[in-house]
Amino acid sequence: MNQLSLCRDTSDSLKTNVKSVITPSLDTVQQVDINEREFRRASQSKSERWTLRTPTKRDIVARLERVSAEDASRLKQCCSAFRVLTCGLHPLRSYPTFRCKKPFCPDCAAERATRLGKQTEAKIREVMKTTSGRLCLLTLTTKNAATLDGGLVKLKKSFANFKRKKVFKNHIKGYFGAFEYTFNPKTNDFHVHLHLIILRGKFWNQSDISDTWRDVTGDSFIVDIREIKDTHKSVKEVVKYPMKPADLMTMPDEKFLEVVKMKKGTRMFISGGCFYNVKLDDDDAADENIFSQFAELIEGDACPFCGDELFDVLVNRQQHIGLHELGAMPNIVKNNSS
Ligand SMILES: [Zn+2]
Ligand SMILES: [Zn+2]
Repeated sequence: MNQLSLCRDTSDSLKTNVKSVITPSLDTVQQVDINEREFRRASQSKSERWTLRTPTKRDIVARLERVSAEDASRLKQCCSAFRVLTCGLHPLRSYPTFRCKKPFCPDCAAERATRLGKQTEAKIREVMKTTSGRLCLLTLTTKNAATLDGGLVKLKKSFANFKRKKVFKNHIKGYFGAFEYTFNPKTNDFHVHLHLIILRGKFWNQSDISDTWRDVTGDSFIVDIREIKDTHKSVKEVVKYPMKPADLMTMPDEKFLEVVKMKKGTRMFISGGCFYNVKLDDDDAADENIFSQFAELIEGDACPFCGDELFDVLVNRQQHIGLHELGAMPNIVKNNSS
């Protein structure tokens, strides 16, 4: 009984709140709001803001405007408006009208990390049902490179040779991983490395791995291997942002342009062995950002909560954040009337 009245209360307050957030009109999508942090930061002084090290999307857009107006404008448009499927009271799912899919976009990187994390964890669970071994996190590094592209090419080539080695095949049943790069402003070069989650069949010690790695790279031997205790955490670590956003702010324009102009479709994820076919490529990135279990619903369907007809509304970024803050989007749980 209590639960029922609680539900009713929540739904009443939702009604007022959601209505005040959603205005079902195209006219509402005029202002482009760059980042929700902007709102949180509004009260902070300028000097306080500078001490916060993670740049916002607005910072990155401003940085980008100096080197490529076109890319800046795409980044600005990305996730500036969302379509929300709602009955007017219950927002059921939403997706941005445009996604830039750039690796340096905080919105797209976050969406990708979530999506890839889920896919990867599912694959690990599936594989571990039938395959024995220990999950480890292996990091392979190469010497700093003057260009990002050069660094990536060298690392990819080295890894291709590494995995062909007999000792690799003898010890490792499967792997998947992501390339990551950092920038060193003092030496003005990129540090490109590869984080891999591997399924280790036989124990392989670090110094042997290091020797083999030096063999294929010619000059690099720094590797790290550790057993994974928390799969979720390690997967998150591997599929996260390919670069630290703060690095974008410290690199000179020509290096920044390298990152921005990195060839589209540059493969940043790899997989093989028993993890072969872990879908880590961005090509099939879903445009939709579905926050709930209502993926199947479309306009004209009945709302599963109140039965009213569902329709699409366009909201801007600020309004979309408002919907989240209400907790309405992900948290509505179907109320079984019994
Ligand atoms: Zn984006
Ligand atoms: Zn409804």
